[in-house]
Amino acid sequence: MNYMSGQTIALVTGANKGIGYEIAAGLGALGFSVGVGARDPERREAAVHKLRTGGADAFGVPLDVTDDASVAAAARLVEAYAGRLDVLVNNAGVAGGMPQAPTAVDLADMRNALETNVFGVIRVTNAMLPLLRRSSSPRIVIVSSKVGSLSLQAAPAAETGPISAVYAPSKTFLNAVTVQYAKELRDTNFLINAACPGHCATDLTGFQAPRTPEQGAAIAIRLATLPDDGPTGGFFDDAGVVPW
Ligand code: NAP
Repeated sequence: MNYMSGQTIALVTGANKGIGYEIAAGLGALGFSVGVGARDPERREAAVHKLRTGGADAFGVPLDVTDDASVAAAARLVEAYAGRLDVLVNNAGVAGGMPQAPTAVDLADMRNALETNVFGVIRVTNAMLPLLRRSSSPRIVIVSSKVGSLSLQAAPAAETGPISAVYAPSKTFLNAVTVQYAKELRDTNFLINAACPGHCATDLTGFQAPRTPEQGAAIAIRLATLPDDGPTGGFFDDAGVVPW
């Protein structure tokens, strides 16, 4: 552990691969000390090693976002490491299995998706809040998805992908929670925003998507590094504002 006083400290959940890994790499390239939140020890250590080899100041944070004890231990680790947290990127997410048609959906799949994509974000955010409150410019990024935009899903002409009664509503729920966090934290120095990475080739999409994970990471990195007069309570992708 080699955190240097004055360095900006970030935690990225689900940072062992895909978009989360690229968010960690991008923040590392900016000089941040980056906690690689990941549940599997081998995948976590491989990611930390790769990030360090690339010049980033990365450290491993054992983290299963669905597990209270794991999340509490992660908060203790970050506190022992740096005493505070400046940036939290809630990136960990799951697609939620098949089928996703509402007429055929397995409620167990739905519960599992909510446990990670929604309750996991709340669990991690609330555990990290005391550390974020010690930052002079706390930033929270929620990695959501355009498919969670209820206004786009409900617009007949909008291109929102296949029928999705698990993944898309989990992100809609997440968006709704993000708005409530922003309202509660409005008169503080927190900036909390949701990001849509776009359709990226990762495990989650079976690597069948046009964008690279690095491209997908860019909007989260932008929101993680907003200036103090930046927006809060918004939903953004590379092109700008995404409607809720
Ligand atoms: P990915 O490659 O499958 O990565 C997902 C990450 O989340 C992995 O590191 C995974 O860890 C982690 N994770 C899952 N459950 C976890 C848990 N309980 N505790 C801790 N970590 C957990 O998918 P991705 O495409 O990079 O997705 C990252 C985020 O972007 C997700 O929130 C996703 O919904 C969002 N997103 C993706 C796309 C896209 O086109 N790819 C589009 C819009 C939004 P393991 O390796 O241990 O499973």
